[in-house]
Amino acid sequence: MQTIDLRRDTITIPTAEMKDEAFKAPLGDSVYGEDPKQRDLEKVAAEKLGKEAAIFVPSGTQGNLVALLTHTERGNEIIVEENAHIRTSETGGASCVGGLMIKTVYGEDGAPAPEGVEDAIRKNDIHYPRTALICLESTHYRYGGIVPPLDQFKKIQNIAVQHKIPVHLDGARIFNSSIYLGVDVKKIARYADSVMVSLSKGLGAPVGSVLCGTSEFIEKAKRHRKMLGGGMRQTGWLCACGIIALSDNNINNLKADHENAKLLAQGLSDIPGFTLNLERVHTNFVLAQLHHSKYNAFSLLEILKIKRILATQADEATLRFVTSREIEHNDIVAVIDTIRAIL
Ligand SMILES: *Cc1c(COP(=O)(O)O)cnc(C)c1O
Repeated sequence: MQTIDLRRDTITIPTAEMKDEAFKAPLGDSVYGEDPKQRDLEKVAAEKLGKEAAIFVPSGTQGNLVALLTHTERGNEIIVEENAHIRTSETGGASCVGGLMIKTVYGEDGAPAPEGVEDAIRKNDIHYPRTALICLESTHYRYGGIVPPLDQFKKIQNIAVQHKIPVHLDGARIFNSSIYLGVDVKKIARYADSVMVSLSKGLGAPVGSVLCGTSEFIEKAKRHRKMLGGGMRQTGWLCACGIIALSDNNINNLKADHENAKLLAQGLSDIPGFTLNLERVHTNFVLAQLHHSKYNAFSLLEILKIKRILATQADEATLRFVTSREIEHNDIVAVIDTIRAIL
């Protein structure tokens, strides 16, 4: 039996089409702006997201950090949702590298509560750091791939404009959000000045993310990318994969991941011991709480591992399953059957 890997959508390997295109790609030194495929990818990404320009970066973490460095100065403060990836999962780069203070605002739906954002913005006072940036995230990773409502983004944007503070969107999985909401991805990206998008998650490229924004912002961002070691030379192989990752056909494949997540959530919710909030299964993540007399989340994961099913633990009682193109309908059925048999 093959391993069924539901740990992350980052496990996706490039499609045959990607490999084909990669090895055909003409190459040049991208630090000098001479890699044709990197230029093409950056153009495609900017156009898709409805922004003037884009840069290719090796990872989402670097893309977010480049955005923070470009929007802020050392000693500034940024506002982020309490459990945002930028705060919880990027090794403290905002503070360590950016010299930034982080002000958190909770938001149950994944967006920092607009009233909280308004309150968190610092008054102009010599004692305070300057609030330099508001960060949003869609889909929200820690809350299980939920999609914050766009009217919340709109309210936050209005506040940001009033106070002349830019907005950055960590849109690692923004295409999953666009499918869930049934709107063009531009209609999400428009609420932010800059947007980071991962090519290497559900979209299936082997490596890379893009950061999009105004031409002026991206020109400035290039220096920060270089400073962080993101000048990558012959990137054409990677960027050829990225261009396919951003094709409509490829993006549409994310729908199957969402359907598989729903199927899994439904199946687990029928098994005694599991508690799921099915209304919060928006995209390709399933968070399932386990309260069982014999097993906890950790021990169940250990047994599943022996049976070649991999998932992760979101907290003490919660299992996290992430679907991707490496997972098929039959795999989900097998996972549900296996877990039911164990419990
Ligand atoms: C994965 C992820 C990132 C970082 O991307 P890497 O390529 O893993 O560095 C940033 N934000 C969110 C919401 C993510 O899920």
